[in-house]
Amino acid sequence: MKRVLTGIKPTAENLHLGNYFGSIKYMLEFQQSGEYDNFMFLANMHTLTQLHNSEDIKKNTLNLIRTYLASGLDPQKTTIFNPAKIPAHAQLNWVLSCVTNIGYMKRMHAYKDALAKNTEENITVGTFCYPILMAADIILYDVDYVPVGKDQKQHVEYARDIAARFNNIFKPDFFKLPNPWIQQSLATIPGIDGRKMSKSYNNYIGLFDDDKTIFKKTRAIPTASIPVQEPKNPDECNVYNILKLFLSDDEDKNIREGYEKGGLSFKEVKDLLYEKLVEFIGPIRYKSSEISDEEILNILDQGTNKAAEISSKKMLEINRLVGFDF
Ligand code: AMP
Repeated sequence: MKRVLTGIKPTAENLHLGNYFGSIKYMLEFQQSGEYDNFMFLANMHTLTQLHNSEDIKKNTLNLIRTYLASGLDPQKTTIFNPAKIPAHAQLNWVLSCVTNIGYMKRMHAYKDALAKNTEENITVGTFCYPILMAADIILYDVDYVPVGKDQKQHVEYARDIAARFNNIFKPDFFKLPNPWIQQSLATIPGIDGRKMSKSYNNYIGLFDDDKTIFKKTRAIPTASIPVQEPKNPDECNVYNILKLFLSDDEDKNIREGYEKGGLSFKEVKDLLYEKLVEFIGPIRYKSSEISDEEILNILDQGTNKAAEISSKKMLEINRLVGFDF
């Protein structure tokens, strides 16, 4: 059975549509197909590169798992786990960092993004090495596919490269080479300002947003000043670019026609977007309010035990290969 694995960082209380469509939705599809061995982890070790407040990390963690479950992830079909409790992740991280060159790491987006906002002296080593830990998280499980948004594609490719490098040095075909899993139409979900939806840009629509907030956010999406009757290009309209995530093929066809022929106002499309978002987010928000912390911790414990069993066996083999076996 092919194996799928992905994770989300608990950096904020509220996940957003970008996380849903760039990660959770794929996992729901894999789970639904019944043909894959599914793993969804909590990228809490990665969160430490951004957040140094234990209470916030704990609160965000509970909300993250709550969102996974409220969105439909079933712990019987998808192993939900906490890598920070599995020593093999940090151990493999070290082994991989010893076969990775600094020059290679300097080409990583995570580092370049950090460099665009900060001087090198102020970037943590954790931020610089983040893709190495991500590679360890993935290749420890001999994963086939890693569903991600476009922003993480390069990091999955690095995981592939480093797995191949390790295999080349220590043992041919030892690690499976993972593949990014990205659907073109979901590669980058735009935020309300048109840039990539992101917690750090504060341009997101959250999966816990209440109806009033959703209304305000949909109203705040900038639109061009084109009279209602004039034809418009839907692909240049950010309201449409978010709305299309929720449209059936027929609805999409009608809306596109409305734009292209003219006569459809931006207010009408914003109203429709608001309706669709409330219809989509309302049940997730409601279901998540029904999930207790105890339930989450139990699920996490069980998933972590299962993941630890797999990865500690792999780590024993890695230790043997590099010469740490006595
Ligand atoms: P992060 O919040 O950085 O931990 O991201 C968790 C997952 O959501 C990763 O697979 C990202 O690629 C994906 N993701 C985050 N933002 C977006 C976005 N705007 N569009 C598509 N995928 C996204």
